[in-house]
Amino acid sequence: MSASPEIYERIYRLFTAPVSAFDCGARCAAHNGGTPVCCSTDDAIPIVDNHEWTLLKSRSDLWREFVPPDKATEKELSDLHHDCTAIECKGAAFCERDNRSMSCRTFPFFPYITREGDLVGMSVFWTFEDRCWVQSQLQIVNQRFLDEFVAAYEMLFAVDKDEFAANRDHSAAMRRVFARRDRPIPLIGRDGRLYKVTPREHRIVPARFAEFGRWGFYKDEAAVAPAPNWAKTDPRSLEGLDLPVQAQAAD
Ligand code: SF4
Ligand code: SF4
Repeated sequence: MSASPEIYERIYRLFTAPVSAFDCGARCAAHNGGTPVCCSTDDAIPIVDNHEWTLLKSRSDLWREFVPPDKATEKELSDLHHDCTAIECKGAAFCERDNRSMSCRTFPFFPYITREGDLVGMSVFWTFEDRCWVQSQLQIVNQRFLDEFVAAYEMLFAVDKDEFAANRDHSAAMRRVFARRDRPIPLIGRDGRLYKVTPREHRIVPARFAEFGRWGFYKDEAAVAPAPNWAKTDPRSLEGLDLPVQAQAAD
């Protein structure tokens, strides 16, 4: 059973926090023709549960059903679950914060679920790591975003077993990909500490942001100031990060 429009409405009310204090859209839009990567259907097509779609349509005319521009995209969407709809908004210039979809609110994170079926925190949609600036600067993620993210998914998973299964499968797929690449999976734990999932045994152990590297357009960028919560809850996570001296002092 999927979550009702009323549950999505409750989730929208509780989950309003931005990922960080930075305008990350300006960072990635600079490399993407002026449009934030996750706001362009050329890069990411928002998929919503049909009940979420019912809610969005009742609140705003911001969204419409996505029309595939070509055969390849049509094929890509052909195996979409019958409970879901691909949608498109009017564009970043017309964004309505309160009427963002769940996928807008959570990007670039998804709920990471262990082999044992525990929601232990959040990891990243890694296929965007070359374009999504946040994924090269994970220390900017703030506590409020993390708390609201976890609360939103707990509410959703309590009623929507398919959504849980999809995220459990996505976590397993990430473990397979990262095992092949011999890379640790970044995991922002629900306890506000940073972890990695080791590539072979899939053990969850404490980590430092510096272990996860920077990617694509941001490969040679310096680290920006971390959200203040990291220095309080997990100072070790910041070790080895090439932080500007001023930013460290400010925190
Ligand atoms: S979450 Fe990533 S892709 Fe989306 S606007 Fe921020 S940096 Fe760009
Ligand atoms: S609703 Fe806003 S955040 Fe979501 S895709 Fe559109 S412009 Fe981006």
